[in-house]
Amino acid sequence: MSKIDQAVEYIVSNDVKFLRMQFVDLMGNPKNVAYPIKTDAKGLDELKDTLENGMFFDGSSIEGFVGINESDMVLKPDLSTLSVLPWRPSEKSVARVICDVYKTNGKPFEGDPRGCLKTILGKLKEEMNGSYYLGPEPEFFLVKPDPHNPHKMIPADDGGYFDLEPMDEASSVRRDIVFALEDLGYHMEASHHEVAEGQSEVNFRFEDALKTADNVITFKTTVKMIAQQHGLTATFMPKPFFGINGSGMHCNQSVWFNDEVSFYDETAPYQLSETALSYIAGILDNARALVAITNPTVNSYKRLVPGYEAPVNIAWANSNRSAIIRVPAARGKGTRVEFRAPDPTCNPYLAFTVMLAAGLDGVKKGMSAPDPVEENIFKMSEARKKELGIASVPANLSEALDELENNSILKEALGKHIFENFIELKRAEWDDFRTSVTDWETKTYLKL
Ligand code: GLU
Ligand code: MG
Ligand code: MG
Repeated sequence: MSKIDQAVEYIVSNDVKFLRMQFVDLMGNPKNVAYPIKTDAKGLDELKDTLENGMFFDGSSIEGFVGINESDMVLKPDLSTLSVLPWRPSEKSVARVICDVYKTNGKPFEGDPRGCLKTILGKLKEEMNGSYYLGPEPEFFLVKPDPHNPHKMIPADDGGYFDLEPMDEASSVRRDIVFALEDLGYHMEASHHEVAEGQSEVNFRFEDALKTADNVITFKTTVKMIAQQHGLTATFMPKPFFGINGSGMHCNQSVWFNDEVSFYDETAPYQLSETALSYIAGILDNARALVAITNPTVNSYKRLVPGYEAPVNIAWANSNRSAIIRVPAARGKGTRVEFRAPDPTCNPYLAFTVMLAAGLDGVKKGMSAPDPVEENIFKMSEARKKELGIASVPANLSEALDELENNSILKEALGKHIFENFIELKRAEWDDFRTSVTDWETKTYLKL
């Protein structure tokens, strides 16, 4: 049976009435247009045509896409992503298929984040017979309105790291999240209450980078929908509350060449191969620019401060959580590098693109990594940090954008359209924040 026929059969046998043609905008917000399914002969012919050739849409109002003068675009479904949405009714159900964005001349659209990741993965395969694997660890908060002030959101429970009920009121929410993700085909690995009040982490298995990026997008929607069913709001905001831990999305990653693990070397110091060390060096070397993509919001930089298990220092370590890169203890096929900066507001397609570009830059140039830093860097004096050559992440989005603007490796990986539109939109976001008057300012200065 052809892939198209298989997809049609799946749609009909699952009583799908709406097929959501899904993609993301430049910032990684999921977008979709629902295609109504008709099961008479004519309807099925049209469905086959749509699955094969895609669906036209107007891209002019999608953030970071195109101007109104060239707005016609095409959504081409990636049929391997077709799946019924478990939070929608099971009768007259809804399925989604993730699409690639094309121009009407049949060429991929340069502003499509998924296309951008596919381009660098294609080059990795073609030039080095390489594959890129990603295991993200997205954290989030469940919040509810403060009974004393309905405009203010507060953590939904007061549990802490690995707590059980009754402190952990989120366990039934996580249970339903795990089941929903299993229905969507995820291989679930673990779930637990995180350190901060109201904070959870739910882990799914690593996959190749493209599938993982798709998974991150669907994960966030699933978490939000299940939380809503429990009368709660889920937020992926990196630092929703001052004074307690924020939410990261650590990215465990490895590059394989010729279908073999490349980061492991049994006989080397730390059992890490030259490739692994060069990859680490490439990430460290580009880290100050990388974070503009992996930590793309004003709020992202409120998480990247000392004292909350979030990284600030551009160094690597084997177990030290104050460094931006940690190499978890697993070796052999499980050897991986954990980049701890990213947070779940990043566009995963772009974040994975730039992390890979940075790491490969190190590998191609044969960069050597500095020694690992196993002391707690949060407690290190400025002088000692200087001596060890440990830089800090940018203090805010504006500084990060300056770094990105001057980074030719990332510019090339993102392509002109994405690079320029991203910087323009994010500069506007920064300016909006910069000129806003915050609660902190009124609290501190009103009575002066
Ligand atoms: N929540 C911490 C962060 O912001 C990470 C905690 C952990 O190591 O899982 O990155
Ligand atoms: Mg965690
Ligand atoms: Mg981690």
